[in-house]
Amino acid sequence: MIASDLETAVNRLRALIEAAGRIVPFTGAGISTECGIPDFRSPGGLWTKNQPIPFDAYLASRKMRNEAWRRRFVMDEHFAKAKPGRGHRALASLYRAGKVPAVVTQNIDNLHQDSGVAPQDVVELHGNTTYATCLDCAKRYELAEIRQTFEASAEQAPDCSCGGIIKTATVSFGQAMPVEAMRRAQDLATDCDLFLAIGSSLVVWPAASLPLLAKRNGAALVIVNREPTEFDEVADLVVRNDIGDALGPFISH
Ligand code: NAD
Ligand code: ZN
Repeated sequence: MIASDLETAVNRLRALIEAAGRIVPFTGAGISTECGIPDFRSPGGLWTKNQPIPFDAYLASRKMRNEAWRRRFVMDEHFAKAKPGRGHRALASLYRAGKVPAVVTQNIDNLHQDSGVAPQDVVELHGNTTYATCLDCAKRYELAEIRQTFEASAEQAPDCSCGGIIKTATVSFGQAMPVEAMRRAQDLATDCDLFLAIGSSLVVWPAASLPLLAKRNGAALVIVNREPTEFDEVADLVVRNDIGDALGPFISH
C-alpha cells in the first residue's frame, strides 16, 4: 500500500523495522541525489548528456579511453565533494544497531562506505568509481595519480606498468557483472525479514529481480522512491516521499 503522507510512511516504516531482525537495504542512484550526484534519469543531468561508453569500445580504442577519463574527471566535481546523505546515515545507524548485515547497492559513489558501513559489508553490483584497477593484473590505482599523469600528458589515458589497460572499478555496459557480489546479493535477499528498495527505478537487471526474490522468500518489501516502480503492487509499503525525509528519522548518533 502507498503511504498517504510522510508521517504515515515513517510510522509504518518504523513498525516494520522494529519487527524485523534482519534488514537488507538495496539502494540506487536516488539515495545520492541529495549529496549532489545526479541520478541516471534526471533531465539534463550529466549522465544523460553523454552516451555511456560500452566495455568493448573502451578496450578497443585509446581514443575512447581518453574520452572516458576526461568525462570521469569532469564528474569528479560531484563525486569527490559528495558526503553521505540522510539515507546513507540512516542505513549506517541500522547497520551499527546490528539489524542490517550488509547493504546491497547499484551505486558506484562509495557513500555507504563513507557513512560507516565496513567495505566488506557493502555489496557493489556495479563496482566503484572512486578508484581504478588494471584489467590485466588487478593492481589498484588512485584517481588522483591517474589524473596527474593524464593532465601532464595532454589527456592520454595511462596504462599499467604491466602493459594492461587501467579502468575505473565500475561495471560498464557490456562488462560482466561481478559474480561474487551477485551471489551475495541474492543470498541476502533470500534470507531477510525486510527488504528496503531505496532510490532505484528497478528497471534494470538485476535490480528488478532482487525485490521479488526477497518477497518470494517471505520478506516484507518496502519501496522508497519518488516515482512509481513496476513492483509497487507487490510491496507491503510504498513510500513516494523524498528519501532523506523518509529515512532521516532513523538516524541515530
Ligand atoms: P535511476 O536513475 O534509474 O533511478 C533513480 C530513482 O530514484 C528514480 O526513480 C528517481 O525518481 C528516484 N529519486 C531520485 N532522487 C530521489 C529522492 N531524493 N527521493 C526519492 N526518490 C528519488 O537509478 P538506478 O536505478 O540506481 O540506476 C542507475 C544506474 O546508474 C545505477 O545502476 C548506477 O550504477 C548508476 N549511477 C550511479 C550513481 C551513484 O553512484 N550515485 C548515480 C547515477 C547513476
Ligand atoms: Zn597491470
